[in-house]
Amino acid sequence: MTADLSRPALPLRPELVGLEPYGAPQLDVPHLLNVNENPYAPSPQVVADIAAAVADAAHGLNRYPDRDFEALRADLAAYLAAESGVALDVSQVWAANGSNEVMLHLLQAFGGPGRTALSFAPTYSMYPEYARDTSTAWVAGRREEDFSLDPAAARAAVAEHQPSVVLLASPNNPTGTALPAATVEVVLAAAAEVPGGCVVVVDEAYGEFRRRGVPSALELLADHPHLAVSRTMSKAFGLAGARVGYLAASRELVDALRVVRLPYHLSAVTQAVARAALAHSAELMAQVGSLRDERDALVVWLRERGLTVADSDANFVLFGMFSDRHAVWQGLLDRGVLIREVGPPGWLRVSVGTPQETRAFQDALVEVAGL
Ligand code: PMP
Repeated sequence: MTADLSRPALPLRPELVGLEPYGAPQLDVPHLLNVNENPYAPSPQVVADIAAAVADAAHGLNRYPDRDFEALRADLAAYLAAESGVALDVSQVWAANGSNEVMLHLLQAFGGPGRTALSFAPTYSMYPEYARDTSTAWVAGRREEDFSLDPAAARAAVAEHQPSVVLLASPNNPTGTALPAATVEVVLAAAAEVPGGCVVVVDEAYGEFRRRGVPSALELLADHPHLAVSRTMSKAFGLAGARVGYLAASRELVDALRVVRLPYHLSAVTQAVARAALAHSAELMAQVGSLRDERDALVVWLRERGLTVADSDANFVLFGMFSDRHAVWQGLLDRGVLIREVGPPGWLRVSVGTPQETRAFQDALVEVAGL
């Protein structure tokens, strides 16, 4: 191919050449069970309160928003205290446009050229992208066959690679599996030995869906200043469209994130929407309970039909094994049910929907996979 000299080459960073933007297909089909959204739209009361809060914020939109969003951080601290029993100061809470941006802030502050971020695959596919975008080297250790993390292997990986950031999703995407507190503690201890320091990020985007008895890493914060626990309003709160993620950590760690954020990164509208929704957290959490029940029933249903299903503490289920998973995915799509072709070969992931959506998924799967 000859170069078109009338068009100067763009100086694209070499590591970006040929890459496609990340994202699942956004298709217009009746049953969207592919991106782990909450299937329940905000109730009329929540909508009314959000609309009133946005109208109020609109009066001041000629001004930049509260740069440090202290009111929102206080509301998030109060929510986390109610949800997990862990008391936090406002200075220990941070937020951004989705937990994706929270984690980008973490890599901007603690990654960078000459440094390494470590995680354990299969895991959330955005992690290597945060690393790439911050010129941080990326290393993925392995999870076990059942997607658990062997503490000794995790300790050895930290010692070998000396990362400055470890990313642990718990519950993990796409597997749904959560980590025992003991495993997180082993990683925290190994990270404390890394010369120059190492931040351990526990990504609890699906934390509210954990089964009873599964602890949150928030409980470990008091003793570990190098721990950050990331959460989101996209899943449990059903607010994916608002783009609000947040984290809890030591004050020192949060102060580092304040250095790398763009000024006024959280719009006044976003802050108003988040606060209005947080005022309804009790009602929204009741919905989380029914989604958990729906998830547990779906796991049982799939296992009863002879499928292999990963334990799930999230609002989705990874199941298989299929010799031609793409054919199953396509067959479901042909029947109006969009799920996700993700995870190790042979597995598929379905988000937990309303009971009607779950039934549509089950009916389609029975037909397609001949269960
Ligand atoms: N972490 C995990 C494990 C996820 O699955 C997702 C979204 N799918 C995110 C973080 C990011 O979510 P958001 O930016 O909407 O908060």
